[in-house]
Amino acid sequence: MPASPSAASADALAEFVRRLPKAELHLHIEGTLEPELIFRLARRNHVALPYDSVESLRAAYAFTNLQSFLDLYYAGAGVLLTEQDFHDLTAAYVQRARADGVVHAEIMFDPQTHTARGVAIETVFAGIAGALREARDRHGFTSCLLMSFLRHLSEQDAFETLEAALPLRKQYADLWIGIGLDSAERGNPPEKFARVFARCRELGFRLVAHAGEEGPAAYVGDALDLLHVERIDHGVHSEEDPALMRRLASQRIPLTVCPLSNLKLRVVDDLSRHNLARMLRAGVNVTLNSDDPAYFGGYVLDNYVASARALSLSPVEIGQLAANSLAASFLPDADKARLARDLASVLAQCPAP
Ligand SMILES: [Zn+2]
Repeated sequence: MPASPSAASADALAEFVRRLPKAELHLHIEGTLEPELIFRLARRNHVALPYDSVESLRAAYAFTNLQSFLDLYYAGAGVLLTEQDFHDLTAAYVQRARADGVVHAEIMFDPQTHTARGVAIETVFAGIAGALREARDRHGFTSCLLMSFLRHLSEQDAFETLEAALPLRKQYADLWIGIGLDSAERGNPPEKFARVFARCRELGFRLVAHAGEEGPAAYVGDALDLLHVERIDHGVHSEEDPALMRRLASQRIPLTVCPLSNLKLRVVDDLSRHNLARMLRAGVNVTLNSDDPAYFGGYVLDNYVASARALSLSPVEIGQLAANSLAASFLPDADKARLARDLASVLAQCPAP
């Protein structure tokens, strides 16, 4: 990797990353709502927006922390009303992901953001699933859904959301395989959701949770021990606890790290000081993801390229991140093995940047 990349070498790096088959494992579908689509849906649904142009909305994306982002995020989601809206949102994400060389996506969605506005949970499922099934049938793009609870709301609210969704489980069995936990972490520790996660585990769902983004390393340990999650979303504060780091590495527990999100929300003040390379080199199963790409300035490819440049990741390390993403996915083992072979053959043929 050159020390001061020219435009040509930056293009070579982007092309290298694009060609690697990758999975995206930490993506909120509501966070892919681009300002242009917000305006289009607002017009279609006759929703008034407090911004007079796409530019003035984009200018409001100068967040100072997780909460200031969440305030705008929930306001943006207010234009999503019909099945077609959720379909169009999801189809637009799939198009972007495919262009970045993503072959499989595990997508979080927050029904509570929508049911609280009077949108039926059936509408949310139908729109998202319709677009994902089209992507699978037309392009071989595979995906699954992780229904996520908003942790600033009560555990009772999470239970009610689960009850409302369960009658749909059979209809969406090809997609809905897991449960997540997201939104404001501080003051909302994993233990708050221990009982609802225990119920989801009994029901056979795969489990993930955000932990150690703004919260401490202890939340990462608690997500593993109290919620029994298989993957940690973010987890960048794990480094505060050396024993936890050793556990993550020895048990190969995946972290779905989102560098541009961390930068935008000031979890780190400069990408060159992000700990993802250090954690990767310490043997932690780090994956790269985009989180809420419309709000954080980049999709998967941008996250790889920006991290590679800021942290001088070698081509072998970039390949390792892609391999980790496939191995940490919830795909069946046979699919993981096939994609790993595809990745190895691309790496063998690709000129390293
Ligand atoms: Zn997230």
